[in-house]
Amino acid sequence: MIEVTPGIYRIPLPLPVPNLSHINTYLVRGDKGCLLVDTGWNTKESFNSLKKQLAELGIKGKEISRIVVTHVHPDHYGLAGKLKNLFGATLAFHHLEKDFIETRYVSMEELIQELGQWLHRNGVPPDRLAELTQASLPMLKFVTPTMPDTTLYGGEAITCGDFSFEVMPTPGHTAGHICLYEPDKKILLSGDHILPTITPHVGIHPQSGSNPLGDYLDSLNSLKRLDVDLVLPGHEQPFTEFKERIEGITLHHRMRNAEIVAALGYDSKTAFQLTTEITWLHDVNGVGWYKLGNWDKRMAILETLAHLEAMRARGELDKFSRDDIRYYHLPQKAKKNE
Ligand SMILES: [Zn+2]
Ligand SMILES: [Zn+2]
Repeated sequence: MIEVTPGIYRIPLPLPVPNLSHINTYLVRGDKGCLLVDTGWNTKESFNSLKKQLAELGIKGKEISRIVVTHVHPDHYGLAGKLKNLFGATLAFHHLEKDFIETRYVSMEELIQELGQWLHRNGVPPDRLAELTQASLPMLKFVTPTMPDTTLYGGEAITCGDFSFEVMPTPGHTAGHICLYEPDKKILLSGDHILPTITPHVGIHPQSGSNPLGDYLDSLNSLKRLDVDLVLPGHEQPFTEFKERIEGITLHHRMRNAEIVAALGYDSKTAFQLTTEITWLHDVNGVGWYKLGNWDKRMAILETLAHLEAMRARGELDKFSRDDIRYYHLPQKAKKNE
């Protein structure tokens, strides 16, 4: 726990997954109640860690009058329901995230079925379908599904103490992801939109819209105009190199595109085939795609698909369907398999 700037505290909470060590929640101190941005997973460890750090700050739970979540992934939203009830706080998040709560966390059968069809159409072999389709089910226990008291659309001001944050919709990582921008203090609470070393997951799935990577790069680009001295991200450490990081993430995606083009060559391939052929972060540690867990494998496939659809939207790729399976290829090049 650190006071990252006078009046804002970073409260890191543990995560029950191996690849990410912490989620950062931020407490903004105000004279008429405090604001908590993001909440951590719904686990005992996470809840106890939050309680302990609030006590160290001398803040009672009841002093937290508002909770804002940047998006409804389990690490940012999991504890929201419990904390809201316990503290008597109001909860706010973007309206597009609200639309997903029911299908994602309450009656998810339809979503899972749709995802299964999606994976099938994108080349996942039948014997792998069930394990990849159901890979996210264990995550459900880390969320208490709760509806917001206030639904955000973008442009609202969230004031607390000396701070007035503007709600900035930043679709891509999720369709209703928001960042909070404090123009006078030049601070951006970036959620999972901009992280200092990790590139956030952007994948295509039934709730993502048709071109989430296009949305992501557009919303990343639109933030460039902001004057930001300090970025407070949802994971890793706060950082100052705001514009450089935007450039770095943009470049990373260009390099991924080049890798996909090289892997395609003159062939037509499915998203699944390409996912198994391109490199993944884990390869740096000597772990190939086939050694990833099912959850990571599914994210990798959906991420490759997001690249393919973004490239297709820019006219860099074409696709065709055969026997209900989608194949991608470079335009004007011979298509061996068509
Ligand atoms: Zn997330
Ligand atoms: Zn996250």
